[in-house]
Amino acid sequence: MVGPVPNVFSFDHHHDLPFGDLQQLLGDKGAHLSHMVSSLGLPVPPGFVISVEAGARVRSKGPNESNEGEVREHLAALSKHVGLALGSRDHPLLLSVRAGGVRPMPGAIRNVLDIGLNNVTVEGLAKATGDERFALDSYRRLIEMYSTTVLGLSADLFQHRWEGAKLLAGLTDDGEVPVEVLRLVVERYLAVVEAATGTPFPQDPEDQLRGAIVAACESWDAPAARNYRRRQGLDDDSGMAVSVQQMVFGNRNESSGTGMAFSRNPSTGERTVHGEFFSMTQGLEAGQRETMSIAAMAERFPDAGTQLHAALETLESEFGDMMAVHFVIESNALWLIQARPGDRSGRAAVVMAVAMTGEADLGLTHAEAVLRVTGDHLDQILHPQIEGERTVLAFGLGASPGAAVGKVYFTPDAAVEAYDEGDDIILVKDETSPEDVHGMAIAEGILTSKGGLASHAAVVARGWGKPAVCGAAMIDIGSGQFTVGPIVVREGDVISLDGAAGEVFLGAVDLSEGEVPPEMDIVLGWADEIRAGRMGVRANADTPADAAKARTFGAEGIGLCRTEHQFLGDRLPVVQRMILAGSEDEEAAALEMLAEVQRSDFVGLLEAMDGLPVTVRLLDPPLHEFLPDLTELAAAEATGRLDDAGRRLLSAARAQHEENPMLGTRGVRLGILKPNLFRMQTRALAEAAMQRRSAGGTPIVEIMVPLIINRAELDLVRGWIEEELDAVIGEERDGLSITIGTMIETPRAAICAASIAPGADFFSFGTNDLTQMTLGFSRDDVEARIMGEYLDRGLLGANPFQTIDRQGVGALVTRAAAEARAAVPGLKLGVCGEHGGDPESIELFTDAGLDYVSCSPYRVPIARLAAAQAIVRSDG
Ligand code: PEP
Ligand code: MG
Repeated sequence: MVGPVPNVFSFDHHHDLPFGDLQQLLGDKGAHLSHMVSSLGLPVPPGFVISVEAGARVRSKGPNESNEGEVREHLAALSKHVGLALGSRDHPLLLSVRAGGVRPMPGAIRNVLDIGLNNVTVEGLAKATGDERFALDSYRRLIEMYSTTVLGLSADLFQHRWEGAKLLAGLTDDGEVPVEVLRLVVERYLAVVEAATGTPFPQDPEDQLRGAIVAACESWDAPAARNYRRRQGLDDDSGMAVSVQQMVFGNRNESSGTGMAFSRNPSTGERTVHGEFFSMTQGLEAGQRETMSIAAMAERFPDAGTQLHAALETLESEFGDMMAVHFVIESNALWLIQARPGDRSGRAAVVMAVAMTGEADLGLTHAEAVLRVTGDHLDQILHPQIEGERTVLAFGLGASPGAAVGKVYFTPDAAVEAYDEGDDIILVKDETSPEDVHGMAIAEGILTSKGGLASHAAVVARGWGKPAVCGAAMIDIGSGQFTVGPIVVREGDVISLDGAAGEVFLGAVDLSEGEVPPEMDIVLGWADEIRAGRMGVRANADTPADAAKARTFGAEGIGLCRTEHQFLGDRLPVVQRMILAGSEDEEAAALEMLAEVQRSDFVGLLEAMDGLPVTVRLLDPPLHEFLPDLTELAAAEATGRLDDAGRRLLSAARAQHEENPMLGTRGVRLGILKPNLFRMQTRALAEAAMQRRSAGGTPIVEIMVPLIINRAELDLVRGWIEEELDAVIGEERDGLSITIGTMIETPRAAICAASIAPGADFFSFGTNDLTQMTLGFSRDDVEARIMGEYLDRGLLGANPFQTIDRQGVGALVTRAAAEARAAVPGLKLGVCGEHGGDPESIELFTDAGLDYVSCSPYRVPIARLAAAQAIVRSDG
């Protein structure tokens, strides 16, 4: 007969679950503790775990009797096992309560230690241990931890008093605070709690335990835990398991302490035990007495040191990975209170992954090694990083990774001028447009107060590998300065950016820029072997220089050349002239000028990617990014500063102005209004291909039509393209690889994929626009203003411009891919929206059977890795 599923499991309960299932049941922390006790026989203080499911129930429905009944039974068993009782006046049992999810959340969870102490038991503990200082020190720690973690009081209430007391006693060292001062501190702490909550600090140990368990379950929803999950891309489902454990005391005496140890060096990957030990303290918080290396600790505590090394080896060979343990030494005896795979730097991740394939005891396969490295690790290797902790001035979206330091400039011209004088620049703007690119090009980093991950600033910064923080709505840009609350940052002041975390700092931070370890290429080589023939990786690159860079990162072609980006800087006025042309002659003249520069750009692009496919998208200029600023022109007119040409420009710009430019005359629609534009681009491309072939190259050209909604549009434009190709190349077409395809970036095109497919040689999903239009979220506005609230409230699990919205946009892509292939078997399918460089999205594209992803050059290594990982996971 099968009984009810238990909610609570002792660490030593017998089970035959694989470790992954144990993690699902007990959370990562609880599973490791149980496994260490029941399978590895390591020294872990006894205890039990409330399961993830039970923890989630408490979190959503509050405490329940069946859970509490089981906790009481386990507590009684624990009490019997260790011979101590909770609340005993003579020698009380003290407990720790720690929360932990299915995936570890280091740094995001607070614990409560020393549960069981009150005004009476503190005397019992003092008597039983003969150490009043230790008993009082433990009690003041409990009051502070319980009050901040369970009662929600500010840590400052306690920290100020503690630091004040030490100051009065003339001490800086926690371990030296004498009994009389500790007694006073405890009294003050108790008074603080009563004043702040209106009730005395809970004296019943069972109430304390219940409160700590409920708070641990509820900490799943605390901002720290939510932010951690958001940053790591973990979902908000499930909840916390809770481990309840007998306390061991690192603050017991001079022969005690606590520390963190890694089985290998987490910064370099070297196979040497690494870590820190804090003598005579509990927890790993700051303000410890004395910090020493693990080697120094092992000299001072030889038995515990030997045992710790042995335990780390056991754990490493059991879990096949570098492990981190939190340990306590109490009166020379070693206790392990937590173990998990250790966090590591990017460099250490690749060094270890490669080393572990060659170590007999671990013997990782190449596929396993590839799974050990994350996109964040590669980002860390490829971009400068901020060293140490700093106070954040403002934050926005982490739009392009890496760290940058520079002087603030608000216009591209001022930025270029300062750059010419030798300054490093951070360009700060509400949002950027093609008119700003000369300033962006020389900037170390870019900060915008508006715009999202698919905005102009974000797309361009990622393409160039420049750190960028976008949509930092809290910065208020005025004339020659920006403010964040009362803080004013003026032109020329220095700020720093962390483009991965989306953080802005005042002043210069220290940056670290390590060399790329050779192991990175080894891991990426294995990734390439795994994904060969199944998922290609191309780059979005618009210039020959970007294409060459992309190739060095391993790009297997260009998946998107945004031709409008070839008309930046001094070429921009020609595009404006073409869009605003008042007569056919004016348009023809502008087109002729554009044709010339296009041809030479295409030659360069095809040369940089010789032998690899180059997808050139016909012009798709969002008009608001390319037209002159109406407000500025109108202001100039009002103050009589416009000449005749200026007035013509103003009236043309007014005529072209759109209220909703993202849904206006873009992509194929502009081409249909100006057929000569697409014809000119096709001619330039065909001539470039011929030129490359005559020079002995192997050009592979893919011409792509943007933003279509139906087959008729594609057929019309395809007809023009074919005519131009015939005109330029004629008979020789057979010898040249030129195909014609379309982007799928409107929901209608995705829904009608089957009917469009026979008209195309390939599809490329433009998931930026597809996301914008499917969710009805403006890619320029929604992230800065709305997204934070949506994510905080859990209305969306992730920013859909960063990680594909699986159920909506993802489902559209998957369905369109399947239906297109059903209509045209083997149709080539790719993706070129920003999601093409996002690991989670790449997993969906792999599962949907796409042939390639295309992303900014600097994301190419991450995409190579992520594609291989998706394949390893899907092959099981
Ligand atoms: C897209 O919409 O996903 C895309 C790649 O095109 P763009 O970002 O240039 O609109
Ligand atoms: Mg698009």
